Amino acid sequence: MLEIKKRDLIDVDAPNASTGIVNGKSSNILNWDDVRFPWAYPKYKRMLGNFWTPFEINMSKDIKQFPNLTEQEKDTFLKVIGLLALLDSIQTDYAGKVADYLTDSSLNALMIILAQQEVVHNHSYSYVLSSIVPKAKQDEVFDYWRTEPTLRRRNDFITNGYKSFVENPTVENLLHSIIYDVILEGLFFYSGFAFFYNLARNQKMVATSTMINYINRDEQLHVGLFEKIFKEILRENPQYDTAELQELGTNTFKKAAELEIEWAEQIIGNQIDGLLMPELEEYIKFMANKRSEQLGFTAPFEGYRTNPLRWIVAYQEVDLGKTDFFEQKSRQYTKTSDANGFDEL
Ligand code: ZN
Ligand code: ZN
Repeated sequence: MLEIKKRDLIDVDAPNASTGIVNGKSSNILNWDDVRFPWAYPKYKRMLGNFWTPFEINMSKDIKQFPNLTEQEKDTFLKVIGLLALLDSIQTDYAGKVADYLTDSSLNALMIILAQQEVVHNHSYSYVLSSIVPKAKQDEVFDYWRTEPTLRRRNDFITNGYKSFVENPTVENLLHSIIYDVILEGLFFYSGFAFFYNLARNQKMVATSTMINYINRDEQLHVGLFEKIFKEILRENPQYDTAELQELGTNTFKKAAELEIEWAEQIIGNQIDGLLMPELEEYIKFMANKRSEQLGFTAPFEGYRTNPLRWIVAYQEVDLGKTDFFEQKSRQYTKTSDANGFDEL
């Protein structure tokens, strides 16, 4: 297996635009008008356009509402936050590690912005919890990843996928880890998102859902960025585009969906008003198919071609101006234009 080289801090003999996405040569100087990939600068603009911080969200209504949720809703709310906190924490670090091996200063820059956004996501979970529960409960929620067996199984699946790359950085392991990345950012977040949007649909915890919507919007760009990186690595190194990779890709998305369904059955179950488990299971399979195909693999589940949670589109695409449901924040400095809409997802 081919080792993957870390990008040099500075290389006086190399061009500013790199000679390859991995194992290439690059001076490491960043000039946005002289970069290897034409999609990098538009992505940079979109990522900056998404800028937000939790401080902008007024939690006062949620603070009043939280004690009035059903016990089941409260429990699920906290468990979903606990899950997201683990995923966003490791994601910050993973992004930084991937950045070291991309031989292009512009891709390094994009990964640093991505990592910064994951830090903000993590901040938002502390921000929500410190508003609605006492500190001891907040600490407990941030430890769910250790103490909840289903959550642990599901998260170990991702972290093991990342570990192989971190401990043994080869081109192959980088490609494999990106499959897990797309599962983390593009599948494992999504039933959690659905839970919050469902609460918002019932006029509950709308401030939290607004924050979740911002996170969702960032994650869509992140999945799009990793998709680009994955495809460029294969395009420049076609020897890695093998039948084994294809098979591994489809199987990994299948396994991920199964773990997600198991977790959703246990945490969301049939008890949450308006969010029915059979629909959620279909939604998870639909998302797994979509993400698998996005990376160029066969869809793991036959059928499941349409989104069964049709109402969710209005909540996910709030940024496209299709709804004014989320009115918590004025978006004056998020200059929404077609360059700042949703990614090509
Ligand atoms: Zn995130
Ligand atoms: Zn992300």
